[in-house]
Amino acid sequence: MRVLIVEDEPRLAENLARSLRETASYAVDIANDGEAGLEMAQQNPYDLIVLDLMLPKLEGGEVLRQLRSEKVATPVLILTAREDKASVVALLNSGADDYVAKPFDLGEFLARVKALIRRGKGQATPLLTVADLEINTLERRVQRRGVEVVLTPMEYRVLEYLAHRPRVVVSKSELLEHLYDYNWEKFSNVIEVYISGLRRKLDNDHPVKLIHTLRGHGYSLSAEPAAGEQV
Ligand code: CA
Repeated sequence: MRVLIVEDEPRLAENLARSLRETASYAVDIANDGEAGLEMAQQNPYDLIVLDLMLPKLEGGEVLRQLRSEKVATPVLILTAREDKASVVALLNSGADDYVAKPFDLGEFLARVKALIRRGKGQATPLLTVADLEINTLERRVQRRGVEVVLTPMEYRVLEYLAHRPRVVVSKSELLEHLYDYNWEKFSNVIEVYISGLRRKLDNDHPVKLIHTLRGHGYSLSAEPAAGEQV
């Protein structure tokens, strides 16, 4: 998953980014003012935007209104000062998805981020299942047939992304855009490495294969072979 943080206070932005990278394995970009945030949100396919309200150059509320008027549907979590309750109601009405009031607890922030990303992908619970594969997105634990599978952080990121949309063929460039920050182009040949790691760890000992490759199109996670699949 890839998150944009639009926050002008550098230490807060860095703390939030670090906790998302370390505890959730998300890729994170930071914008330090409203204009930069709007531009980045228009250009990149984020899974969530964390948006401060009081920002230099362009206020958070204006960033939100502009994105929603351009039909950018990415979930938005507002960061606000505690005394700003009235404007929060207006923002929720104009397309924000949730908010946290400063100062907030990092654990609460992370829980809200994960819930919004989940709901943005149409998942109601933190437990993702595909056939006999179970992914606990809160604990980042993976089991197949009840047996724990140990993945590297990047293998996990790829698997979780695929598992949010089972059976859908996800292109390599979509994976790269959602799993890395703005430097993603230089990682373009490593996705195959993670896919083969996943295949070895998840599929090798099982007759039903879950990881599928459609050459030139992408990858999918499903108990059914994909149409046109190369084996
Ligand atoms: Ca601010």
